[in-house]
Amino acid sequence: MTAALNKSSSCCCGNARTPGWRFLCRCQVLQVEKHDTFRIETNQGSIVSDSLVIASGGLSIEPLGATDFGYRIARQFGLQIEEPRPGLVPFTLTSQMLKRWAKLAGVSVDALVGHDGQQFRENILITHRGLSGPGILQISSYWKPGASVSINLLPDEDMLEMLTRNKSSDTELVNLLSRYLPRRLGRGHRRQPLVSRDRYRHWLRS
Ligand SMILES: Cc1cc2nc3c(=O)[nH]c(=O)nc-3n(C[C@H](O)[C@H](O)[C@H](O)COP(=O)(O)OP(=O)(O)OC[C@H]3O[C@@H](n4cnc5c(N)ncnc54)[C@H](O)[C@@H]3O)c2cc1C
Repeated sequence: MTAALNKSSSCCCGNARTPGWRFLCRCQVLQVEKHDTFRIETNQGSIVSDSLVIASGGLSIEPLGATDFGYRIARQFGLQIEEPRPGLVPFTLTSQMLKRWAKLAGVSVDALVGHDGQQFRENILITHRGLSGPGILQISSYWKPGASVSINLLPDEDMLEMLTRNKSSDTELVNLLSRYLPRRLGRGHRRQPLVSRDRYRHWLRS
């Protein structure tokens, strides 16, 4: 049995002494062919084998050694491939949206996150690049580029009903929202609060 391991698997090297096994460390598999047996071309020479297991991982993060090698070999042997797409990942926001949201980086809030019939009640986290946290990571596995995602920041409250209930109160909008949301989020960005103060005042007068 031969196992070819590239550089990120170097922890196995040096102490691999399993009888009947041969470990090739820092070994990159370049090409696989099959006639009667498999012929595996590596940067350390050729290996011939009756069977072959490919465990070269997915496409996640290239600097960690991720390659599309497994997919290429599967295609070469005519296997049907479900087109891979990112899952359990944070969302990045456009630079325009980041102007508003990046100032709130670090704020985390319990939310109901939904897309295409899927919903998750989990925390979301505003980051310097966009949105993360368990709610966002979960919904990302169902999201397709260009589709919209709904985020309900007050899943246990009807916001309109709450504002109507407090219409005659003297409480400032920021203080009112702070009862339900983290204060920084309720306050929003100085020039772009979560709820426009002017629109709120207009609504109070109506
Ligand atoms: C940032 C991050 C965090 C994660 N956190 C968790 C977690 O908390 N819990 C959890 O369960 N999972 C986690 N995962 C997922 C987990 O790491 C993977 O599911 C798991 O490592 C997959 O194992 P694997 O053996 O299939 O592939 P890998 O671990 O990717 O191993 C594949 C190996 O094949 C090598 N290789 C590729 N091409 C070639 C080639 N041509 N020749 C020779 N070698 C090659 C690669 O260098 C790599 O060493 C995380 C993944 C990432 C990226």
